Amino acid sequence: MKILKIPVGGPSGSNSYLAWDDDKNAVIFDPGFPDPRFKQILEEEGLNLQKILLTHGHYDHIGGVKELKELTGAEIIIPEADKEFLTNPELNLGFVNSVPADRLVSEGDEIEIFPGYKLKVLETPGHTEGSACYLADDFLVSGDVLFNGSIGRTDFPGGSTAKMSQSLKRLMELDDNLPVLPGHGENTTIGYEKRYNPFIKMMTT
Ligand SMILES: [Zn+2]
Repeated sequence: MKILKIPVGGPSGSNSYLAWDDDKNAVIFDPGFPDPRFKQILEEEGLNLQKILLTHGHYDHIGGVKELKELTGAEIIIPEADKEFLTNPELNLGFVNSVPADRLVSEGDEIEIFPGYKLKVLETPGHTEGSACYLADDFLVSGDVLFNGSIGRTDFPGGSTAKMSQSLKRLMELDDNLPVLPGHGENTTIGYEKRYNPFIKMMTT
């Protein structure tokens, strides 16, 4: 499997991740803004985009969904508690009017992204009520829950510091060597954040 990190939306934007297998089946995580590179890369690599996976419903994670849906017909997947964010421009904080999800997921759900390759849904509320992480055998897509050296804000509607604390504790139980692909900033690992992230120390002890 290949994973390509595509930062979108400029310096204060977010990270999208495009993943594909040897047979050119592809999924994208959090296409946060419309970006001509999506179409370009899909075409150049000959990829068949099948799923659009969203970690939560904020505008900077869903802004490119509508365009990709129209381009590819891919299945839109979002945690159940954030489903309204797609079609309620005020909830997503950026006045994005997107399209409804095709599939709602919650704790423990498994998503087969490629034949024989599954992701597990971890509900990790705190940044939004629906915020989730997608756990694979060899990486975690952490959305706006865990960043390299920081954590997601909890002061938006639906946010909760207490829930964020529980969510972070949960993530810290994962394998130290697990690569973390965050919604903003540089990649990291669970072990690195456990040791060096000041917010983890504050929020989990
Ligand atoms: Zn967010």
